[in-house]
Amino acid sequence: MKLFKTPRFFRILFPNKTWGFSRSTNAVFLTFDDGPDPEITPWVLDFLAERNLKATFFCVGENVLRYPAIVNRIKQEGHTIGNHSMDHKKGTEHDKEAYLKSVYSAHKIIESRLFRPPYGRIKLNQTYALKKDFEIIMWSWLSYDYDKEVSLETILQSAQKHIKSGDILVFHDNPKSMNRLKIVLPEVVQILLDKKLDFQAIN
Ligand SMILES: [Zn+2]
Repeated sequence: MKLFKTPRFFRILFPNKTWGFSRSTNAVFLTFDDGPDPEITPWVLDFLAERNLKATFFCVGENVLRYPAIVNRIKQEGHTIGNHSMDHKKGTEHDKEAYLKSVYSAHKIIESRLFRPPYGRIKLNQTYALKKDFEIIMWSWLSYDYDKEVSLETILQSAQKHIKSGDILVFHDNPKSMNRLKIVLPEVVQILLDKKLDFQAIN
């Protein structure tokens, strides 16, 4: 059984992280993790441009260094950028110093006050340390675009049933989930347009 929606008790348990925004915005917040990637990020940008939608890209510092032109394109097209650490570190497997080093070295090139922990895994002491400089952006709906065990039909059913205004949605501009993303993203976006929701970047 896969959980698409972040359970309410998580939000209550970890109030120092952002799990979603006000229901009254009438908007949802598309986010893309792990890029930029030369194979899939330009496809995502073309898709968003065609429909005039804005989104937020949580970039891995090493990929930013490799593909700076894609990062410039993300910014030029009115999207926002967040920090996803330098090397996609899992917080729970590293001590505070190593983790902060990864986040702050990415901060030098990404320059965003938004941070999303890779895998959503971060220790409490790392959270407290980062709160000084960052807003820690989690999510309220996970697409499972990366997980081949979750059928596309199940994902779309969940989108239809669960996604509401204020939700932060996670997708991946990562070559591993590319083929599924290309199918899932347009379908999910259509479901949300039918629900008359707007799309905003996180600022
Ligand atoms: Zn990631």
